[in-house]
Amino acid sequence: MARPVSYNVNEKPLVNDISMAAMPDGYQGEGFFASKLSDVVGLARKNSIWPLPFATSCCGIEFMATMASHYDLARFGSERLGFSPRQCDLLMVMGTIAKKMAPVVKQVYLQMAEPRWVIAVGACACSGGIFDSYSVLQGIDQIVPVDVYVPGCPPRPEAILDGVMRIQDLIGKESIRRRNGEQYKNLLNSYGIQ
Ligand code: SF4
Repeated sequence: MARPVSYNVNEKPLVNDISMAAMPDGYQGEGFFASKLSDVVGLARKNSIWPLPFATSCCGIEFMATMASHYDLARFGSERLGFSPRQCDLLMVMGTIAKKMAPVVKQVYLQMAEPRWVIAVGACACSGGIFDSYSVLQGIDQIVPVDVYVPGCPPRPEAILDGVMRIQDLIGKESIRRRNGEQYKNLLNSYGIQ
């Protein structure tokens, strides 16, 4: 006997409350709207993040779930994954990074154009996780500056989404002058990056 196949016959109600990106503060009148350039650039950047997934182990699988239809990272404007560092602005490091691999992660970071951001996903990328051993890097912030840490072993897709939303907050509020400032240059210098 053939196995019965069930289809989803229940029609989903149409939802009309699709939320739009929030408008920046500003002044408006008939036919005009004035705002700060920094806010407008931040709005565009935060809603069009291009992630570069650097996945080495189990946390990468959670990221795959985050990209799939149920969690759907595309809702945040981040569906365009890039594997060319020169096109991406968000490095997502997911998994155990061995010391031998550290120069590769750094090279990928260096090949990304400014402005660029970094998320360490999972205990291994944040701190080495359970691998307190001679061969494992005890956190990627030893080689590149990290903007957001997502804890967990592995973090659930919800936690990864939360990390992306925190990066969005950072990006939206970042001044367009920050990357030219002394403080940022000193941060990069502390990693030996000119
Ligand atoms: S944090 Fe846990 S789940 Fe993620 S790569 Fe390390 S061992 Fe695997």
